[in-house]
Amino acid sequence: MTAYLNGKFMPIAEAKISPLDRGFLFADGAYEVIPVYGRYGFRQEEHMRRFQVSLDGIRLPNPHTPDEWRALIKQIIANAPFEDQQLYIQVTRGADVKRDAAFPVNVPQTVFMFTAPMAKPSAEMRANGVACITAPDIRWGRCDLKTVALLANSQARQVSVDAGCTETIMIRDGYLTEGSASNVFIVKNGTLYTPDLTSCLEGITRATVLTLADELGLKVIEKRITRDEVYCADEAFFTGTAAEVTPIRELDRIEIGCGSRGPITEKLQNAFFDIVNGRNPKYAHWLTKV
Ligand code: PMP
Repeated sequence: MTAYLNGKFMPIAEAKISPLDRGFLFADGAYEVIPVYGRYGFRQEEHMRRFQVSLDGIRLPNPHTPDEWRALIKQIIANAPFEDQQLYIQVTRGADVKRDAAFPVNVPQTVFMFTAPMAKPSAEMRANGVACITAPDIRWGRCDLKTVALLANSQARQVSVDAGCTETIMIRDGYLTEGSASNVFIVKNGTLYTPDLTSCLEGITRATVLTLADELGLKVIEKRITRDEVYCADEAFFTGTAAEVTPIRELDRIEIGCGSRGPITEKLQNAFFDIVNGRNPKYAHWLTKV
């Protein structure tokens, strides 16, 4: 794995931070994960804009200009010995000389990046869908930000691991919010539904799917969705940088629709892969060449 820490590129094993780093002590940091297909960053500019929103949301100054980030990203992608990558970027409020919850003064932020081979869903998962399970959404109120405070997401994710499922769908006050690391969609009577942005992260893959749905002439409604509406959906799928577009074949052991990938999910998947694999010239600008 190729890493970058505070101004230097290095093998990941050589990257070391202080135990007083506020990312370690207080989860005081923000992050992004950018998918890289064939060394092209997919919607890199949108990811970096969302990163700025996350930093602003926790009052953490951005240590780099957009051009500096572009140069760093270009270099780490180019250095990696693999083509399809998942590029992780994290900034924390740095390491003070004491443990104090209040923001430190004159402490440089910690800037960390590493890139790893992209962990794609298998062809079988893409074609036949996966089993998911629900769990209560116990996260804090700022689920619109990508902060490193991911304890509740990790707890939720483990629920699906323990149950032999692929993703955990979180429910708050009886309504679906999102997956532990994904956004969720359902299809009912030809209409695509997804929770509105009051209860979930503005996923870049979610935004891509909404654009593609529009192109395919699908009716889309962003609204609150109950757990029963998911059980009774014709189709369901979740989206994310790592998940891409993954069909849900069952939820809480209840079969969704035909119990496999539905036709609208398949159309959206095909349109998604056409774009990320550079087969749709209309969206070539979403792929940043290194
Ligand atoms: N929701 C959560 C909680 C996530 O962690 C992710 C993954 N970043 C997503 C949604 C999907 O966002 P994206 O499509 O930008 O990866």
